[in-house]
Amino acid sequence: MPRPLPDALLKVPHRREVPFARLTTLGVGGLCRWLFEPTTELEAQAFVRACVREGLPWRVLGGGSNLVVLGNLEAPVLRLALPKELRREGARLTAPASHGHIALAEAAATLGLSGLEFASGIPGSVGGAIRMNAGAYGREWIDVLVRYRFLTPEGDLVEKAPEPGEFRYRWSCLTGGRVVLSATADLAEGDPARIRAQVAEYREKRGTSQPLSKRNAGCIFKNPPGQSAGRLIDQAGLKGLRIGDAEVSLEHANFLVNHGRATAAEFAELMEVVRTRVLELHGVELEPEVEIWRE
Ligand SMILES: Cc1cc2nc3c(=O)[nH]c(=O)nc-3n(C[C@H](O)[C@H](O)[C@H](O)COP(=O)(O)OP(=O)(O)OC[C@H]3O[C@@H](n4cnc5c(N)ncnc54)[C@H](O)[C@@H]3O)c2cc1C
Repeated sequence: MPRPLPDALLKVPHRREVPFARLTTLGVGGLCRWLFEPTTELEAQAFVRACVREGLPWRVLGGGSNLVVLGNLEAPVLRLALPKELRREGARLTAPASHGHIALAEAAATLGLSGLEFASGIPGSVGGAIRMNAGAYGREWIDVLVRYRFLTPEGDLVEKAPEPGEFRYRWSCLTGGRVVLSATADLAEGDPARIRAQVAEYREKRGTSQPLSKRNAGCIFKNPPGQSAGRLIDQAGLKGLRIGDAEVSLEHANFLVNHGRATAAEFAELMEVVRTRVLELHGVELEPEVEIWRE
């Protein structure tokens, strides 16, 4: 029987029993028993401090575009709902973590600021993108990130510049209970028409190479050094492999798609089959790029 949550936590805006299918792009998972949606940094801090005081494990959710959740989750989940205001100082743009990632790239383009074109097709939130050091087309967040603001696992507020070793390929130090609150990108003034043309080119590329008409969680496995996970999976003949309504995409082998009624267990099984076959055939151990949450 889960224990009742303390009053200090319950003062933070929250909802109960929200299906993860609605909180993730893949559209599977059980129930999020407690979804906390602070609208200010202070409320987010109150959430973390209350969890720490009570010794409660908790999780941070962004746009759910890199996530597979297995079953229900009793642990409180934090999803920031900070006002979506952007701040511009010269060519620097600061966005709250809960700002849409694609919307940020679009806003930068509209302002004639170049540097976030790579982000224009990566869904989710700014917070999730910083945490994952999201990137595409040879660029990633650490190339433009000059400051970030976050809560420590104890709930202290810190703002700092990134340091060597804090960000690498699809990884950052912002794990283990750290909560990204905002990020500042150092961009370059450019011609809005040219920036838009670059965005359109990237979108076109994605549209022709990714299964964007079906629910998915982006690339499932990280690219092993010097190799392409998609190519390894394709060479193993796994495109189109289907378990229930979960399928290895025919368009891009490193995407698993939901044909409508897939379950999280089907995705977990499909990932395991893909991992095992690639290991047997190529001797390469694929590491998930998506996060898997289970109780
Ligand atoms: C169609 C599609 C295309 C994609 N293409 C790309 C791509 O080209 N490149 C790429 O890098 N990714 C890509 N992705 C994956 C995904 O969009 C990125 O990893 C994205 O940055 C995740 O952000 P999110 O807000 O959805 O994070 P979530 O999926 O909600 O969470 C991912 C991780 O970030 C943590 N997190 C979320 N918010 C915060 C926060 N505020 N503070 C601390 N931790 C936080 C979560 O705890 C979790 O560990 C794609 C996904 C899809 C569905």
